[in-house]
Amino acid sequence: MSAILSGATYPPTLTEEETTNLVIALRDWSLSHGLVIRAPTDTNAGDELSVHVPLTLHPSPFPKNLFDQARGLQTAFNALYAKVADDSEFLNGITEELAGVDEFMSDLWKLHLEVEEMTEGVPAQPLTLGLFRSDYLLHTTPTEEPSIRQVELNTISASFGGLSSLAADCHRFLSKSGLYGVATGSQLLNDETMPLNPAARGLAKGLGVAHDAYGVKGSIVLFVVQNLERNAFDQRWLEYYLLEDFGVVSVRASLEEIAESGELDPITKVLRYKGRQVAVVYYRAGYTPTDYTSPATWEARKKMELSKAIKCPSLATHFAGAKKVQQVLVDELVLAKFVPDANVRSQLKATFADILPLDVSDLGKKARKLIETCPEKYVLKPQREGGGNNVYRERIPGYLAELNDETLWRGYILMELIEPPRDVRNAIIRAGKVKEGNVISELGIFGCVLWDTVTHEIRQNFEAGWLLRTKFADSEEGGVAAGFGSIDSVLLI
Ligand code: ADP
Ligand code: MG
Ligand code: MG
Repeated sequence: MSAILSGATYPPTLTEEETTNLVIALRDWSLSHGLVIRAPTDTNAGDELSVHVPLTLHPSPFPKNLFDQARGLQTAFNALYAKVADDSEFLNGITEELAGVDEFMSDLWKLHLEVEEMTEGVPAQPLTLGLFRSDYLLHTTPTEEPSIRQVELNTISASFGGLSSLAADCHRFLSKSGLYGVATGSQLLNDETMPLNPAARGLAKGLGVAHDAYGVKGSIVLFVVQNLERNAFDQRWLEYYLLEDFGVVSVRASLEEIAESGELDPITKVLRYKGRQVAVVYYRAGYTPTDYTSPATWEARKKMELSKAIKCPSLATHFAGAKKVQQVLVDELVLAKFVPDANVRSQLKATFADILPLDVSDLGKKARKLIETCPEKYVLKPQREGGGNNVYRERIPGYLAELNDETLWRGYILMELIEPPRDVRNAIIRAGKVKEGNVISELGIFGCVLWDTVTHEIRQNFEAGWLLRTKFADSEEGGVAAGFGSIDSVLLI
């Protein structure tokens, strides 16, 4: 295992000709099978042009025992975050911490409270759907075997389920075609070490079972999307499988369009979009403040939240994914409130990195000290989603100093840096161009959970495939569309 993770024996050395053939095959397979993303807007290509998604040339190695461990934890994480979302008192406490320092999170919670008041605590729809993704990096120390550490758990707009199924198919195709040269047909690359990834169908199943639970034939799933979304094809795959496997039609609309054409029946609380009844609202937008371009877009979110459509996620569930929540859950006593089973709790906790608040508590004081003495061991995170928002290592003290007002620090968490192996080798193919280097892979496990927020009964809870994203070891962030990273598939070792 370590020889592979050290880059000594994998990936195989290829001739220039072999590499060229692989890249052509990878690009053409991707374009033929919809492993694509909209062309970057700076090329002025227009909406209609797509390119193959940035993809690694080889599947990246990942220890099988740790992969199985991560998958095995997913239903417990699903249940944990469903419980957190149902605990208004707990989330109220979190919002008080963020009051006055994070306007967006405060606005989300205010809207949640307003909806609660308007419905007098009896929601039009008790069921909520979570399509979550729990992300991990391998953590290594000089003396221990690698282990997995959770980076974060996403409760809204968790992406790349559609494309990651295809990434596994593409690498399997390249392998079976004999294009990996000497490695082809070896014990290393086979159907077991390169598993099929059920993420696309798994997430579609989550939406499908929610649609079934809503129970109205002919009703639709409303995909709430960003204008000019580059990653639209990833979303389209869920739409196609939802139709194929469940006979359910999806409609895509932006918050602006829903503000304009979404209607809430004041008596029945049925949500209609352009006249069609909506069973499930699936948010692939609305996770970042810039999605709310006008007061009308907030009204659109309110209209959906007030309706009897099943939300994926509800406002409370969206809020439960705040990084502040992740930080608070590191405390054993807090975690015990949501996970009473000590055995399950210790399994979850084994994946947690240390995370500290930047408030005036004792832990907050400890965090300040650590920033002074060893900032190189930490990453500072605001309550934002979508990549590119973190501050790393030595830049932390200067960044915080510039915020002036120390009360604003409360909007951030300080997280111990996870230390993945840095000698793994791979190449990333972006727009047909090969770049080789040392890489770091982040494993995300998808999970679906459908539960009743009034009775707290969990109706469905299952793991739904995975995502491997890979970036060069010298890049801090891994955003695929943002140009830092790529999609990958696992080579289990
Ligand atoms: P976002 O919600 O914006 O995706 P993340 O918490 O996932 O925020 O951080 C973005 C990226 O930063 C991660 O994908 C990972 O590459 C890197 N990162 C985040 N936390 C850590 C950490 N504790 N150790 C090492 N890298 C991290
Ligand atoms: Mg996130
Ligand atoms: Mg992330």
